[in-house]
Order: sequence, then structure tokens, then C-alpha cells
Amino acid sequence: MTYVFSVPMRTRFRGITVREGVLLRGDAGWGEWSPFLEYDDHVARPWLACAREAADVGWPEPLRDAVPVNVTVPATDPERAHAIVRAGGCRTAKVKVAERGQVLADDLARVEAVRDALGPDGLVRVDANGAWDVDEAVRAIGAIDRAAGGLEYVEQPVASVEDLARVRRRVDVPVAADESIRRAEDPYRVRDLEAADVAVLKVQPLGGVRACLRIAEDIGLPVVVSSALETSVGIAAGVALAAALPELHHACGLATVQLLTDDVATDPLLPVDGMLPVVRPEVDAAALTRLGADADRVRHWERRLAAVEEERP
Ligand SMILES: [Mg+2]
Repeated sequence: MTYVFSVPMRTRFRGITVREGVLLRGDAGWGEWSPFLEYDDHVARPWLACAREAADVGWPEPLRDAVPVNVTVPATDPERAHAIVRAGGCRTAKVKVAERGQVLADDLARVEAVRDALGPDGLVRVDANGAWDVDEAVRAIGAIDRAAGGLEYVEQPVASVEDLARVRRRVDVPVAADESIRRAEDPYRVRDLEAADVAVLKVQPLGGVRACLRIAEDIGLPVVVSSALETSVGIAAGVALAAALPELHHACGLATVQLLTDDVATDPLLPVDGMLPVVRPEVDAAALTRLGADADRVRHWERRLAAVEEERP
């Protein structure tokens, strides 16, 4: 059984305003397949493996019953950044920096406000989404680290994995690889080039919970489990990975259901006191009616699903 959903986002993210995908129902429960629209069939294939694992097999036994998550602070003014962190109830904040149209002083004011809102025990990480060049990154990271009273890590300061390795050799702040890890072979390249201290893993692009557990073991780096902006059904797979990792040193980037205006679950996977429970959410029949995609989009996704199922690895 398959179901095509379409959920408006609260604000534009990655250039999209609506999140679409397919829910698959199997013997083990619901799985979510929601590769971004521009991805070709080959790239979308591991995303389907993740959904099939959820629907047909289920996940390995969890080692914990809740996982810590971070609050995400967009490239906003200091007052709003402060309010978002206070409302979030999380001990870790991820702050967007290096936004186009802004300057370093904007980043410094934002991280100062976030540190003030978190208090001295909280952790501040920043995400530049690859926007700096190497020299810019080295300068900015030093200044932001001081303004933040110490950073947990800087995520993807520069775009390429080679430059990530260069930055890492010139700064004291740990470096995390996010956009550098998109396909199953990418984490190994990050490891081989010693390009990062932390690997951000997402279950859909990397082929599911078991595939990610294997990667985490192979690369030997601390892992941050992050979302691909899924509904609660897809987020549950990320939570299952975070719950099954032998060690979990960092808060996860899985508190993203609130970026959607609605959800397919009866009880959406939203954080309480900075934690997400390790559960499989029930799908809500009324939500399925409310969030059903129109006929055109259903046809699009059915064709896409059939094409990806044809793809051979
Ligand atoms: Mg990131």
C-alpha cells in the first residue's frame, strides 16, 4: 500500500515550500520515501531502501529510549535567535551562519545571543552550509568561537571535502561534514582525507538504519544523525539510528517536524525537554485525507517509484 503526501512548509527551505513524498506500508509498519524532486532515479534509490527497511523489516533493537536533539536557529536577528533558543528547550543549538547578504558581525551577534539564551552549560554549533572559502572560514571560525564562548563544532564551513580537510588543519574548533556526505561512498572519502571530526549522517540518502550503522562503524567518527525534512514517519528512522548507535556523543538534528505546517502522525515526533522519544508514530487516518497530494502529483510519484524500483544498484 502506498500513499502520496504533500505538506506545506512553514518557511521556504532548500528552495522548497511544500514537502512531498510517499508513505509505504509493509509488515513492519510505515516507511517514508521522500527524495528531493531534483534527484535522479539513481540517487533516489538508497532513499527507497531506507523506506523499505522501515516498512518490511523494521529496525535493530534500540540501546536508549530517547535521543537528544538540537534546536535550529535560522539566520535571524539576535532577539529572535534568543527567543527561539529559549522556546526550544534544547541544551544544544545549531546556528545558521554565513548567510548570503549578511556579514560576519551578524553571525557574531546571533551566536552571542544564543549563548546568552542557553547559559554556560549549553552547546553551540554553527552551520555555514559550505558558504566560505578556506581563508574566510579560518577567520570567521576563530571570531565566532570567541563570540560563542566556545563552539561544539562548525558544520560544513566550506563546500568541497578537500577544502574541509584544509580548514580542519588550520582551526582548533572541530569540523563536521554534512553536505560532503550525500552518497554511500562519501563518508569513506571524508575519513580517508581526515576532513572532519564529526560525520552528519541521514538515513534516507545513505540507504537506511543498518547501512548507517555500518558506515558509522567503518569510519570510526562520532556521528550526528540529521533529518532530510521528513514527516514523523521518516524522522522515526533517524531516531531508530540514533537509538541503535553504540555511542551517541552529540545531539541530533532530528527536531525538524516543526518546520512543516502539518504531519501524518497522530502524535508528531516533537521534542520534549530537548529529547525525542524512541517510538514508531501511528499514522493518523484523518491526516492522510487532509494531506493527500492531488492527482497530478500522485501520478508523478507513482511513475517515479516505478522507475526507481527498476534501477539496479
Ligand atoms: Mg548542515
